[in-house]
Amino acid sequence: MTALARDRAIGVVGAGTMGAGIAQVAAAAGHRVKLLDVRQGAVEDALRNMGKALDGLVAKGKIGQDKRDAILSRIEPAEAYIDFEVCDLVIEAIVEDLTVKRRLLAELEAVVGDACILGTNTSSISISAMAKDMRRPGRLVGFHFFNPAPIMALVEIVSGLATDPAVAQTAFDTAAAWGKAPVHATSTPGFVVNRCARPFYAEAWRLLTERAADPATIDAVTRECGGFRMGPCELMDMIGHDVNFAVTNSVYDAYFKDQRYAPSALQAEMVAAGRLGRKSGRGFYDYAKGAAIPEPATEPAAAPPKQIVFEGELEHFDLLEKRAKDGGLPVHRRPAGERGELILLDGVALRLSDGRTATLRAAQTGERELVLYDLALDYAAATRMAIAVADQSRGEAAALATAFFQGCGMKVSLIDDAPGLIVMRTVAMLVNEALEAVQHGVVSAEGVDVAMTKGVNYPKGPFAWGRAVGLPHVQATLDNLARHYGEDRYRAASRLRRLVARES
Ligand code: NAD
Repeated sequence: MTALARDRAIGVVGAGTMGAGIAQVAAAAGHRVKLLDVRQGAVEDALRNMGKALDGLVAKGKIGQDKRDAILSRIEPAEAYIDFEVCDLVIEAIVEDLTVKRRLLAELEAVVGDACILGTNTSSISISAMAKDMRRPGRLVGFHFFNPAPIMALVEIVSGLATDPAVAQTAFDTAAAWGKAPVHATSTPGFVVNRCARPFYAEAWRLLTERAADPATIDAVTRECGGFRMGPCELMDMIGHDVNFAVTNSVYDAYFKDQRYAPSALQAEMVAAGRLGRKSGRGFYDYAKGAAIPEPATEPAAAPPKQIVFEGELEHFDLLEKRAKDGGLPVHRRPAGERGELILLDGVALRLSDGRTATLRAAQTGERELVLYDLALDYAAATRMAIAVADQSRGEAAALATAFFQGCGMKVSLIDDAPGLIVMRTVAMLVNEALEAVQHGVVSAEGVDVAMTKGVNYPKGPFAWGRAVGLPHVQATLDNLARHYGEDRYRAASRLRRLVARES
C-alpha cells in the first residue's frame, strides 16, 4: 500500500463542479486541502455550496455535525501557486483545454517538490500530450473522478506513456484509501467508461433511426428487461445531447473514424434543433410542466396458449418455466429435438434473439410462425419483455407469445423486427467493446467490470455479463448483426474470437 498518508497536504486547482467535489473527498479522508481558482470568489462559492450539501447529509443523519465542520475546516483557499509548495499531490480540475492545462502544469512544476504527484481530472485529453513539455513527465497521472465526485465511487487512474508506474500505484492506493473504487487505465480516447459505454447510446440511436421502437419503449425495455437503472434515451436527456454528442464525436475522431463509434445523424439533428434534454426543457421527452409522459408500447391482454412446451436446456428455461407454472400456464418439458432449444406455444416457435431478424430465421428454419424474445438481465425478475415477429407470420404468433410472457407476469413490448432486439444487441456490443479495450491494454478484465458498475451503474459488468450470456452467443449475435448490416461496426473483437475458440 503506497497511499499518501492522511497528514499529507493535497492541492486542488479549479473550484468548479469537479474540483470542489474532489476537495471534499480528500478533506473527508482527513487531508488538509488547498483549493485555488482563477475566478474571484469561486473558492468561497464552492465552500458555501459544499457546506449546504454537507448540511443535507447531517440532516439525513449520514454524518455528524462534527464531521461536517471538520471537512470544511480542512479546506483552505489558496492565494497563489506557491501555496502548493507543501503539497504531495495536486489535482487539477480546470477548463478542458490542452494549452491551458499545459501552462498550469508548468506553473505547478515551478513550485512543488520533486516528489509531488500531479493529477489531472481531464475526461478526454491525452495524459501523454499533457505531459509532453513537463520537467518530470513521470509524475503526471489521470485522476478521473465522475460527477458528483463525493458520490460516484469510480476513479480512473490514467497512465500516459511517461507516467511512472509507482506514481500510478500511489494514485490508485490513495483513491482507494479515500473510499473510492479505482481502476488503472491507459491514456486512450475515452479512457474506460466514456469508451466502453458508447454502445449503450449507439444501439439506441440505431433502433430509433430504423424506427424499430420509440424512446419510451427502448427505455422501458432497457430498464425492466435489461435491468439498467435508466434507459439510454432518458439518460442522454439527463447528460445533455450536446455533451453526449461531443463525447461521441471526440471518441470517433480519436479512433480515426472507426465506424464502431460513429455518431448518428438523428443525434446531430436533435442537437441542431436545441433539443438538448432536461436542461433545454426538451429532448426525447418534454420536460415542460404538465407535459404528457409517453407510455412504452405495451400489448393488451391476450388469451393464453393451450400447450406450452420447452424443448431443450437453455439456462433461463428453468426460470421461465417456473414463472409460467406460477402463472397457471400449462407447461411441459422435453429434450431438444432437431430444431434446437425453443419454446413451442400451440405450434408457434418462440426463440431467444441471436442477432438475426425473426424474418430471416423464419426463412432459414421454415418456421413461418416465429417470435423472438430479448435478453433479460434476470429472467426470474424481469417485468417486461420485448418480442418481434417474423414478417411471414399470418397467424396468432404475436398474441400467443404476448400471452405467454403475460402469464409469466411480464408486460410485453412488441417491436419491429430489428436484428438483436433491444437488450441483446446492446449487451453484445458492450461486451465486445470491453473485450477490445482489454485486448488493447486500456484496462484489465476486472477493472472494466468495476468501471462500468461503479462509473455508470450498469447492473452487471460486461465481462460478467458476457459469461452469463455465453461468449459463443455474444459472438454469434455480433456476426449476425455484421452480416445483416454489412457493416464493420459490428465486427467481433479479436479477443472475443480467441476466447470462444478456446472454449469450443
Ligand atoms: P467547471 O467549469 O465547473 O469548473 C472549472 C473551474 O476551473 C472554474 O471554476 C474556473 O474558474 C476554473 N479555472 C479555469 N481555468 C483555471 C486556471 N487556469 N486556474 C485555476 N482555475 C481555473 O468545470 P468542471 O465540470 O468542474 O470540469 C473540470 C475538469 O473536470 C475538466 O477537465 C472536465 O473535463 C473534467 N471533468 C468534468 C466532469 C463533469 O461531469 N463536469 C466529469 C469528469 C471530469
